[in-house]
Amino acid sequence: MTEFKELGLKEEILKALDDQGFKEAFPIQVACIPVLLSNRDVIGQAHTGSGKTAAFALSMLQQIVPKKGIQALVIAPTRELAMQISEETKKFAKYTGIKTATVYGGQGMGIQLDALDRGVEIVVATPGRLIDHLKRGSIELRNVEHIVLDEADTMLDMGFIDDIQFILDLAPEERTMSLFSATMPTEILRLSEEYLTNPKQFLLDADDLSGEGIDQAYLVIKDRDKFGHLVDFIKKVKGQVIIFCSTKYRTRDVAKYLHQEKFDAVAIEGDMSQHRREQSMAKFRSGKADILVATDVASRGIDVPRVELVINYDIPNQDMVYFHRIGRTARAGAKGRAITFVSYSSVGDWNLIKRQIKTDLKDLNKEMGIEIKIPDPLKRQIPSRRYGGTERSSYSRGSRSGGYGRSRGGSDDRGRSKKRYGDRGGSNQYGGRSRW
Ligand code: ADP
Ligand code: MG
Repeated sequence: MTEFKELGLKEEILKALDDQGFKEAFPIQVACIPVLLSNRDVIGQAHTGSGKTAAFALSMLQQIVPKKGIQALVIAPTRELAMQISEETKKFAKYTGIKTATVYGGQGMGIQLDALDRGVEIVVATPGRLIDHLKRGSIELRNVEHIVLDEADTMLDMGFIDDIQFILDLAPEERTMSLFSATMPTEILRLSEEYLTNPKQFLLDADDLSGEGIDQAYLVIKDRDKFGHLVDFIKKVKGQVIIFCSTKYRTRDVAKYLHQEKFDAVAIEGDMSQHRREQSMAKFRSGKADILVATDVASRGIDVPRVELVINYDIPNQDMVYFHRIGRTARAGAKGRAITFVSYSSVGDWNLIKRQIKTDLKDLNKEMGIEIKIPDPLKRQIPSRRYGGTERSSYSRGSRSGGYGRSRGGSDDRGRSKKRYGDRGGSNQYGGRSRW
């Protein structure tokens, strides 16, 4: 047990932590904070919900001097995550006089320029909009001493890497840089050597992709039976639920059907306007909505403590994503549950994910006495019209077994360097840009 005080944090920060009800530092914080404070680069891997945000935010707050320009930059893959990191950082910064700006696509430039004009010391950004600001000179990285890539494996993945390179080229070489994620594939670790100097690695549970504290189960059913089962499961839940779908269309449809069934559900997917995305997240965070139906835009980093159940309405198209998705429950040591619906056409892909799961995995077909009847010729593809299209049938099969998401598409922040400009709402998410 380590108290924050023992990590040498200053009084203003300790007071804010106290206000937050943080009593002891979590292991990743105990590990990383002293190293970051000694200005050594860090790679921090620890399971979802283990407090990685505070690990980097507190370290930078300790060293930043107010009114001396932008000294810290945090880069995250999605707008919602950037906003969340800002919010948490602001809470810790409450008594320090340190200000934070959030910079992301889909929001008018004006608001962001105003915030920057007032003077900030920390910028939390998604890459695309950050590059816009860098190009117009509204953000200067000259004084930056701390750079963090949150969800680092995504940030160093193909779709983002050019943008990250562009940004880092504009930052001083003398800087403390850290990478954080729940998953850190070896190829990303290898790649990180190009960006970090002699990093101290904390791989706290590198072999444990089990989803600690999460009761996991799966059910193999026909695609058209999914909705009925979904309703049965969510009726029994007292807390909040996140439902992950494979495409924007399915996300919209599932949300629509839930509304018809009188559930308080909100949706978030990349084709929605930024305003509606924010409305959905706000309703879900405040508990006004019990159910969030989402594409993988919400699979990384989003922290809503009341989430009791994650339902994978469709299996994710990448095994790491499974662990990020289910990690939206069981936050900060709480208990949680995850149920994965596997359509007949996805059994093969599910088996690949299943192999990675090291803990008990409940077979709901056995438990509920539901027989699996996969007709042989249908093993490959079963398009379903009813809930808006196919599940995985058109994904490239190679995308998971091969490189770490290498075949994936862009997000609003990806592909900027490939001249895909414009803050179209449809683009801020992982991979499969046209589908999610
Ligand atoms: P991660 O990035 O590792 O998935 P987060 O940084 O989002 O996790 O933290 C998960 C939750 O735990 C958040 O709600 C955060 O406020 C809370 N938390 C972080 N550190 C502590 C702590 N030391 N004590 C209590 N709660 C904490
Ligand atoms: Mg996080």
